[in-house]
Amino acid sequence: MNVRVAEKCGFCPGVRNAINLAKKTLEKADVVYSLGPIIHNEDVVRQLAQSGLHTVSRIDEVDQGTVLIRSHGATSAELEEIQKKGLNVVDATCVLVKRVQKIARLLHDEGYHVIIIGDKNHPEVKAVVGSASGVDVVGVEADLSKLSKRKKLGIICQTTQSPDYFAQMLAAIARGGFEEIKVINTLCRETMQRQEAAVKLCRQVDIMFVLGGLHSANTRKLAELCNKHNSQTFHLQNWQELDTTLLAGKQTAGVTAGASTPDEVINAFVRNLQAYPAGS
Ligand code: SF4
Repeated sequence: MNVRVAEKCGFCPGVRNAINLAKKTLEKADVVYSLGPIIHNEDVVRQLAQSGLHTVSRIDEVDQGTVLIRSHGATSAELEEIQKKGLNVVDATCVLVKRVQKIARLLHDEGYHVIIIGDKNHPEVKAVVGSASGVDVVGVEADLSKLSKRKKLGIICQTTQSPDYFAQMLAAIARGGFEEIKVINTLCRETMQRQEAAVKLCRQVDIMFVLGGLHSANTRKLAELCNKHNSQTFHLQNWQELDTTLLAGKQTAGVTAGASTPDEVINAFVRNLQAYPAGS
């Protein structure tokens, strides 16, 4: 099988940094906790758990040791609780996520009603909501009806959303009759480059594979985008999940991967695909 890999895919700098910090911390500290899964990839979480990284969902599950803040960040309340308990902190929050949190606070201080466009259930969005006062989440156009038209809106976006979605929501806000809006572009360039490369590639192949965790928002977004341009798009976690009957009659396959997919998973998938006879 002919296999083409997207020009940009796999680990982003924020995720790479979080994993490196986790490994270094595990070498030095006795007990290390991650507040939420360190990344949305089950294989990586399992490997780090074997090295001693305990994943907890709340700080009240931790009484001693070191807490690792993952790349999506944590709320101010969680950070305060960690401090109050006297726990050690290793902060692996991505610099771009920290920037969104800082902008939310600045907009609030300037008197704006802060709106983050994105998924209210995503940890990054929850952390932004919890790091400044009065932040509301707008996920769909209908959410705008709950906002006062008289308020000055300060608008930011979840880093991993697509520019098309951001633009669509901004257009809805512009039509909404709000008196004043201030928009700060908080989209992550790494994510956009992965999305552009995936769309370009999926148009040129018979079948497209998007590799990554099923809970990874950026991987799901990549699969959704590719599916719009190539209906033969499949989101898988690894080679073991592939139903090889899908390859029947196919000459060229494309591969991309989310920001939390390790190189080993991508390389193994590509090697196995290349060994598969084309058109069989
Ligand atoms: S996807 Fe972008 S914002 Fe998110 S961790 Fe990676 S580099 Fe940071």
